[in-house]
Amino acid sequence: MSAVVSLSNVHKSFGAVKVLDGVSFEVGRGEVAAVIGQSGSGKSTALRCINALETIEDGTISVCGHAVHDRKLDKRELRRDVGIVFQSYNLFPHLTAEQNIMLAPTCVKSLSKAKARELAREVLARVGLEAKADHYPEQLSGGQQQRVAIARSLAMQPKLMLFDEVTSALDPQLTGEVLKVMEDLARGGMTMILVTHEMAFARKVASKVIYMHKGKVWETGPGAMLENPQTEELKAFVGSGL
Ligand code: ADP
Ligand code: MG
Repeated sequence: MSAVVSLSNVHKSFGAVKVLDGVSFEVGRGEVAAVIGQSGSGKSTALRCINALETIEDGTISVCGHAVHDRKLDKRELRRDVGIVFQSYNLFPHLTAEQNIMLAPTCVKSLSKAKARELAREVLARVGLEAKADHYPEQLSGGQQQRVAIARSLAMQPKLMLFDEVTSALDPQLTGEVLKVMEDLARGGMTMILVTHEMAFARKVASKVIYMHKGKVWETGPGAMLENPQTEELKAFVGSGL
């Protein structure tokens, strides 16, 4: 399996605080990697480094053939291949769902309005929201807004999707609909890395679980590793019900 993402001995500090302390992992094509761990363990920073939203001090990061650690990296080229969705949806409030999705394809990829609209309809259908194309964000539930945000990323036809706790701001009843969209994406063969507190989801959907602790990959393995933790730290983390 060819690696879409490869981190090797990555180090990152904020001032005197070491946040990533020699992180290495690989994610292959079509793989779904779930990154889990306590708050502050470096999960979001790892994800942000993959998309060059942070620079690293040491180590190498390769993403879809881009050398992300290289100072000469073309970030726009990298971000054409990588979609990222955060906890906050950041939709433009004055644009409809469809217009929010059309923005990047028309501005960044110079697609015609007609083509971008067609694409928007297509990705809205993929997240089950074709009926909401003309709705403004405030007319949508949190779960629906997050699905629009995912659709917006998909419209750029990324090779890799990153999700950082995309359900954490949602009520439990809205979490399921967003997880369902992510599960469908995974089944469709999308390569994904997701930071999540949804252990049941990680167990079910992830081909690889990466447990981070104190800026290190503490334990990694298939979803089943959550049933049989090898370290005291993961045992405690799984036991805490997070
Ligand atoms: P997680 O996502 O696992 O909760 P983060 O990667 O967000 O962890 O943060 C890891 C550590 O890095 C925390 O101690 C956090 O306070 C610190 N940190 C994250 N981003 C910044 C930043 N921009 N400036 C300073 N410290 C940061
Ligand atoms: Mg985080």
